[in-house]
Amino acid sequence: MGTMHNAKQLSKGDLCPYCKADLDGVSEIESESRPHRESNQPGPGDYTICVHCAGLCVWDEDMNLQKPTPEELDRIDPKTRALLCTVSEVARQAQARSKSHLN
Ligand SMILES: [Zn+2]
Repeated sequence: MGTMHNAKQLSKGDLCPYCKADLDGVSEIESESRPHRESNQPGPGDYTICVHCAGLCVWDEDMNLQKPTPEELDRIDPKTRALLCTVSEVARQAQARSKSHLN
């Protein structure tokens, strides 16, 4: 395999750096600066929102999920930032709904 950078197989799961939940899938976040990829798989530097805690995560060079550094947050362009906020808000609302169903 050598130095090939294959698309991440999410089936093995990634751990959310915030809540340690197993993330076995991601929603691709598209923007002008991050156009749709043919592989439909994330790459280093891509962002995702944890569906469990609505935390913003970023893949590092080794394709491990990390909390974004302030520098990385600064690099997010405004449109992507707005999109991430929207997705995060939707995730939080979904959580609130599922919690209220339990009561
Ligand atoms: Zn999480």
